[in-house]
Amino acid sequence: MFTFGVDIGSTTSKCVVLKDGTQIVGSSLYVGGIGTGSPEKARREALEKAGITEDELSGTTATGYGRNRTENADYNVSELSCHALGAHLIFPNVRTIIDIGGQDAKVISLMENGRMKDFLMNDKCAAGTGRFLDVMANVLQVPVNEMSGVAAGATAPAPISSTCTVFAESEVISQLANGVKMPELLSGICESVATRVASLAKRINIVPEVCMSGGVAQNEAVRSALSRHIGFPILFSDKAQLFGAIGAARYAYEKALKGTV
Ligand code: ADP
Repeated sequence: MFTFGVDIGSTTSKCVVLKDGTQIVGSSLYVGGIGTGSPEKARREALEKAGITEDELSGTTATGYGRNRTENADYNVSELSCHALGAHLIFPNVRTIIDIGGQDAKVISLMENGRMKDFLMNDKCAAGTGRFLDVMANVLQVPVNEMSGVAAGATAPAPISSTCTVFAESEVISQLANGVKMPELLSGICESVATRVASLAKRINIVPEVCMSGGVAQNEAVRSALSRHIGFPILFSDKAQLFGAIGAARYAYEKALKGTV
């Protein structure tokens, strides 16, 4: 049985085809969220990679920021539930998920069966989200996927004192003008995101195992600083950005098993 999950985020569209609720047989990721052609491109590519057609799907779930504007979905489920389902499938013992996406950060507590128990979210401020990193990447002309690698060369992170993204942007520009080197600046930027998210995470009871989801999970500098701040190791999967879409496909599978499509 094949089921489909589409996660239309604020910045990126992700799709996954699951076989029998467990095996990822097709996936895709296109930068561009709601209001762009990316969800449809991602959909076609994931089906193509799975080598199946639309008609062979037993169910589709839409999740993410743009889920309410999605056609072709049988179900519409919150990203919190989908990240929980997706993370649980990849890491069966995970009890806390730290999700940092393009415009918000969430900390999700899970029950042993992978269902969501509690959550906290920062969706009011760009600091502590992928948006902060995207703004800084743009200012410093460093691709967002290279930030962590450059930051690894720092002797110590440059302190970023501004908590507001707009002020932090000016602060970074003036530090650069004052001769602070790129690795130190990038290390400071990653540290700043980790500090913000760690303070959110500490407001919830962090139970191990802990994993990250969302695109920022790929940033090793953020991951390791976050782990240091919360005092727990953080599990990493190269599929972390797909967890929402994986969970969405899993949801459709569980519904199909119950014969509710
Ligand atoms: P959304 O669902 O809101 O679109 P995602 O979970 O897809 O968000 O994450 C998008 C964010 O992930 C981007 O803002 C970007 O900062 C970050 N990101 C994407 N790819 C990478 C990468 N290879 N390395 C580091 N960060 C990345």
